[in-house]
Amino acid sequence: MGRLAILGAGESGVGAALLGKQKGFDVFVSDGGKIKKEYKEVLIHHEIEWEEGYHSEPRILNADLVVKSPGIPDTVPLVKKLVDGGVPVISEIEFASRYTNAQIIGITGSNGKTTTTMLTHHLLKEAGLNVGMAGNIGDSFAKMVAEKDFDHYVLEISSFQLDGITGFRPHIAIITNITPDHLDRYGYTFENYVASKFRIAMNQGPHNYLIYDADDTAIAEGLKKHPVQSKLLPFSLKSRLKEGAWMNEGTIKIKVETKTFEMSTDFLALEGQHNVKNAMAASMAALLVNVRKEALRESIQAFQGAPHRLEKVLKINHVEYINDSKATNVNATYYALDGIKKPIVWIAGGVDKGNDYSSLMPLVREKVKAIVCLGMDNTKLKDTFGNVIDLMVETYSMEEAIKVAYKVAERGDAVLLSPACASFDLFENYEDRGNQFKQAVKNL
Ligand code: ADP
Repeated sequence: MGRLAILGAGESGVGAALLGKQKGFDVFVSDGGKIKKEYKEVLIHHEIEWEEGYHSEPRILNADLVVKSPGIPDTVPLVKKLVDGGVPVISEIEFASRYTNAQIIGITGSNGKTTTTMLTHHLLKEAGLNVGMAGNIGDSFAKMVAEKDFDHYVLEISSFQLDGITGFRPHIAIITNITPDHLDRYGYTFENYVASKFRIAMNQGPHNYLIYDADDTAIAEGLKKHPVQSKLLPFSLKSRLKEGAWMNEGTIKIKVETKTFEMSTDFLALEGQHNVKNAMAASMAALLVNVRKEALRESIQAFQGAPHRLEKVLKINHVEYINDSKATNVNATYYALDGIKKPIVWIAGGVDKGNDYSSLMPLVREKVKAIVCLGMDNTKLKDTFGNVIDLMVETYSMEEAIKVAYKVAERGDAVLLSPACASFDLFENYEDRGNQFKQAVKNL
């Protein structure tokens, strides 16, 4: 089969190694950093060769195929050398897709990937389909294909994974939305990031579907620049559409192919306008793989959402505490502030990815009564909102932030953790930040 080198021994790299070994490749895994113990054990158990702390360049340059972890930029010298030397460098999603005949629903976007992926998987599973969920969520796609292939996959796919595809072709692609994120990896050019997202549809043909947000201007522009062959199924909260999903007086209306479906948004357990969109996208995908309407209606009502995404934690003294730690960019926080119908004590801040907070200004003026800054450097938050919000307090631990919020909040308010920033200054990751929030609230 040839020599397969894998760069990066994380979830996707180790998954690709397992699949490569199973398919008869001579597999070599190389990680420039430290490999987690559990992954080392898997590699050893499967007698796969590996190294950590450096890359043995001659051996890697001699490979027939390289699978690169999404965390490694194309600009690192080793990757450049491989590309210059004509060695194909692909992502794990591409690699795994070559070894399965399953129908794939691929989901990308700046926000809402995980929620839409989990919801779509839930809808298909409840309908009795043999479906796996993978990608940026849980197990890697390659590991699943190696261990127990399914008839259907719902894959959460990042732009970095899409950068490494060549022939990957999902039966159904979903682009939830496109707003600026990860621009450091795209030459600080939004168009490059948009182009990366559109790669999800680049191999699709007229029998495949592209589901997307018709209200999103970046997607509209992207469609002009990157024409696709796919059948287009837009969803919109603003306009009535001929085909796709739209709103009519509080009811979601869907028409895909010969099927129609409708459901009042009152039945959705998920809250917020953004989740109406996620529900539209997931429902269209479910109808396309022939989930029955009754099953769809029932299962969509039961879906509670993923943790750390507008997760209701507790009510204390008639104040609601909401954990939206996964809001690591401004757009996600926009929907949190938009969706909450109460006065808000907003806990915000962290590592800023070049944030422009101006889109939040109207919502902050309307709803936010106090801002609790929780980051090492809160300058930008203070500069933006200092003149609009009477009460801004800087804190440096979750416990402190919650104590301040508790003091400030009054009956009928919501305390919202929706940082609009990454978490790495004070926390391990967004889960750690969300868990600390939940714990601190429970300790009150
Ligand atoms: P992703 O996997 O793309 O990061 P998540 O489902 O984890 O998406 O949600 C990330 C954040 O974005 C959460 O704060 C969530 O409430 C918010 N969000 C979810 N869906 C959408 C959407 N369609 N548009 C904007 N924000 C969203």
